Amino acid sequence: MPESIPPTAPRRDAVEELQLALREQQVILDTAGVGIVFIKNRLIVRCNQRFGQIFGHADAATIVGSTSQSLYPDKASAHTLAETAYPDMAQGLAFRSEVVMRRRDQTTFWAHLTGKLINPADPGEGSIWIIDDIDDQKAAQAQLQSVLTEQNLILDNAMIGIAFLRDRKVTRGNQRFETLLGYAPGELHGVSSRTWYLTEQDWIDATHRCYDPLAAGKTFEEEMVLRKKDGSPIHCAISAKAIDSNDLSLGSIWIGMDITARKKAENELLQARADLEKLVEVRTLELSRTVQALKNKAAEQKIAEAHIQRLAHFDALTGLPNRLLLNERCQQALNVAQRGHQSVALMFLDLDHFKNVNDSLGHRVGDEVLVELATRLKAAVRKQDTVSRLGGDEFILLLPDTDAPGAAHLAEKLLQAALQPILIEQHELTVTPSIGIALYPKDGTDLDTLSKSADAAMYRAKADGRNNYRFYTAQIQAHSDRVLLLDNALRRALERDQLALHYQPQISLISGQVIGAEALLRWTHPELGAISPVEFIPIAENNGLILPIGEWVMRTATQQLSTWMARGMAPITMAVNLSAVQFRLPNLPRLVSRILADAALPPQLLEIELTESVAMAHPLEAVAVMNEMHQRGVRMAIDDFGTGYSSLSYLKKFQVYKLKIDQSFVRDITEDTDDKTIVGAIISMASSLGLRTIAEGVETEEQLEFLRALGCHEAQGHYFSQPLPAPAFEDFVRQA
Ligand code: C2E
Ligand code: MG
Ligand code: MG
Repeated sequence: MPESIPPTAPRRDAVEELQLALREQQVILDTAGVGIVFIKNRLIVRCNQRFGQIFGHADAATIVGSTSQSLYPDKASAHTLAETAYPDMAQGLAFRSEVVMRRRDQTTFWAHLTGKLINPADPGEGSIWIIDDIDDQKAAQAQLQSVLTEQNLILDNAMIGIAFLRDRKVTRGNQRFETLLGYAPGELHGVSSRTWYLTEQDWIDATHRCYDPLAAGKTFEEEMVLRKKDGSPIHCAISAKAIDSNDLSLGSIWIGMDITARKKAENELLQARADLEKLVEVRTLELSRTVQALKNKAAEQKIAEAHIQRLAHFDALTGLPNRLLLNERCQQALNVAQRGHQSVALMFLDLDHFKNVNDSLGHRVGDEVLVELATRLKAAVRKQDTVSRLGGDEFILLLPDTDAPGAAHLAEKLLQAALQPILIEQHELTVTPSIGIALYPKDGTDLDTLSKSADAAMYRAKADGRNNYRFYTAQIQAHSDRVLLLDNALRRALERDQLALHYQPQISLISGQVIGAEALLRWTHPELGAISPVEFIPIAENNGLILPIGEWVMRTATQQLSTWMARGMAPITMAVNLSAVQFRLPNLPRLVSRILADAALPPQLLEIELTESVAMAHPLEAVAVMNEMHQRGVRMAIDDFGTGYSSLSYLKKFQVYKLKIDQSFVRDITEDTDDKTIVGAIISMASSLGLRTIAEGVETEEQLEFLRALGCHEAQGHYFSQPLPAPAFEDFVRQA
């Protein structure tokens, strides 16, 4: 190392000078931080202490004399180095290299070599080498390299975007960072962070916000909306940290994560929660409304129930208890009576001919009459008595603790009360009741039996002339028993062939000829014998049997006439009685036409007898039915004429062919001038309306003469003949 030797020194003697120089040189060698060795002829000639240390010799002197090759791991590596170094060194240049060398303990290490020939012109003079142990440095370098490699691996494979910023520009960024923002690899290198902010202001604000945490060595964390290359926004979670918080100029590392999906989910969650809340709110509202509606409904229901309760127990028109309430009260009264051995009276009250009031004056007037009557009945009874209305003009009175004399007394009182005229509009009306009385326990021990008994007694009162009262008696009992018996027997009468028709001749008072027959129903029961139609027809009307029976009558009668005519009898009319129940059948006219067609009879030969009361009960409907019958060519006659209350105006409208004068007028026509006058009036009225007249129940010659004198057209009665079985009738006609 000639350059490190001071060029000049004070001149002393040469040996002394050399000695000094060598000592100086030794100081330099010993204090130098590097190993220095002098090699000549491939042998270590001199070295400093540091060199010895590097190669593992405590005393440098112990290595002097060793071969230079011993410093290398093997012969080959020593040789390779010599060959590599030679060209530079031969030119007098310093050779520098990093090589692996070997210590005394055979371990190898990295060293930095600098070698130079002392005299490039004569390599034999030897060379000087400076050796630096760089093993630690090498290891550190390798470590750094592996850290960097790992770092790159992390960067390249991370699922999050990572960018290194310095001076707000990208110095390094992983691929994810670029794809996150929609850029191609490398596209963001050197680009300003402004690029991915939506606005300038956003960028400036973010810079301000991150300064404090970065300078404090903390992590800046925030969720922000950044801008992608195509301008679309992206939700990112950002965290940033300074590489060195003491020197922010070294830059910072930024990590970004796409949280669009999370944000979306969060927003959806928020939305869903908001929707749910809204729904809950709406449902709650609905619910409270429903609850309110239900409450209202319940309240309404209560009112309705109370109303129904009233309806259920009271009669709407008169406000009187109805049958249901009567039932309850009767139950109580009978219980009390049973315990106290008392008598209870049950009264059935029905207005006489109330139908006429309704039909002639209208239902409104009828209703007012009932309301007025109800008031009077209530006024007449005691507090503990119950006046109930069953419907129509039927009332039941329940009189606890009342015996027969008490009941009779009240009945008289009621009849009197009813008798007072009722003033409605300009009408002055009088109604009369018929009353039937049944007593507990004699006539029944329950409401059902008692009311049946009272009902039967009431019918007796009506039969006995109305406007009076009757107690239930053994006789009435027998009657109602018989009704039950006949009702049952009648149900089998048709199929058992117990019914037959008798025919009563009708005679012309002008020609004396038989011009017609009235078919009269006969019932002969094997045990009960002959039963009058007066008795069984009302029962048949009641139980509905009148319909099949009535049809049978009409069929049998028309067929009979057809048979007679086929056998040569001159045509006569066949009169058939029709019940009110049949008259109300909607298909009656069609049925009549069919029956006539089946018997092959012209309709004019059939005469239908309808009692006056039936025709007048529903005059408007009667007009319609009669019109229809008339159109079909069937003749109509009004039976028992004079007993009802025919209004002349309706009579004009009826398509009636004949009036049948009731036998009650005929009976006394010879003695009773009233009856004679009535019959005369009927006949003249009929002739003025263009109607024919027939008198029924003619029994004597005198009666006949009277009728003839009054201008009656026809007659029928025992005077001519009883009703006859068909063969006898045939004989009668032949002999006449
Ligand atoms: P009606 O239609 O007024 O019949 C006349 C009734 O007077 C008949 O009684 C007849 O036998 C009776 N009679 C006839 N001539 C005389 C007489 O000179 N003196 C007396 N005292 N009576 C006489 P009958 O047959 O007992 O019929 C009674 C009522 O039964 C009939 O009265 C009629 O309303 C009804 N009836 C009879 N057959 C039928 C029928 O087939 N259908 C319907 N719905 N009612 C019928
Ligand atoms: Mg008749
Ligand atoms: Mg009659």
